[in-house]
Amino acid sequence: MDFKNKAVLVTGASRGIGKEIALSFAKKGANLIINSSRSKEQLEAVKREIESLGCQCYSFLGDVSDYQFVASMFENIYKHFEQVDVLINNAGISHIGLFTETTVTQWKRIIDVNLNSVYNCSYFALPPMIKNHRGNIINISSIWGVTGASCEVAYSASKGGVNSFTKALAKELGPSNIRVNAIACGVIDTDMNTWLSPEEKSELLDQIPLMKMGSSQDVANLCIYLASDESKYITGQIIRLDGGMI
Ligand code: NAP
Repeated sequence: MDFKNKAVLVTGASRGIGKEIALSFAKKGANLIINSSRSKEQLEAVKREIESLGCQCYSFLGDVSDYQFVASMFENIYKHFEQVDVLINNAGISHIGLFTETTVTQWKRIIDVNLNSVYNCSYFALPPMIKNHRGNIINISSIWGVTGASCEVAYSASKGGVNSFTKALAKELGPSNIRVNAIACGVIDTDMNTWLSPEEKSELLDQIPLMKMGSSQDVANLCIYLASDESKYITGQIIRLDGGMI
């Protein structure tokens, strides 16, 4: 399936998984709306790469946990597109540390960026989707939201929230022909994991039956499938992409 004339919004698209997702949809002919909060140069480089593929691309630098920013981003989006056809809630941050040493500021920031951003973007994307009786939301989540991870309590709670959000919203929006799914990633080779020492990396790989990290392309391929008609009967699912890890 190609995505010609479809508008795809990817949050957190300046690098890593979000960048790969955005480029993959552009290669399938979609028009892109990309976002990140700080990396202006990187975001603009992704925009140029998308445009070089012959697609329209609009970039919005700002924090998706900020309701007002998201409101104004969508106001701008609707000047160019009737609706967002595919919303990929990908922006996220991690925090490693003991729960007892997690400050209230760190706790709130993780919940804000990983969970409240999903509310913000879905809230503004949905009215035209509901009106037009079509749309697709894909949330980039984590296996830790399914199982919980030691020293990642805030992160696990935020992604667990994303998983429940996905299941509940899918039930509410099924009658409106809007599908909502989440991809629960295992260990994907991006900047998010650069803090791992070679020893920690090798210990981690020992826990993965396929004995390697996933790639951003693996996540992007699944997004393309979930956004296409080939998966038209799939909604409300938390799909684990983890090399068999859990
Ligand atoms: P990454 O390489 O650190 O990229 C994160 C992206 O999100 C960047 O573009 C970043 O740009 C953007 N971002 C961060 N905070 C933002 C905010 N408040 N508003 C808008 N954009 C924001 O991370 P990644 O590995 O690609 O992760 C992408 C998603 O996959 C996250 O939701 C993460 O939790 C999930 N995930 C990743 C893994 C993994 O192993 N890598 C595993 C499970 C789940 P700026 O810095 O410019 O804001």
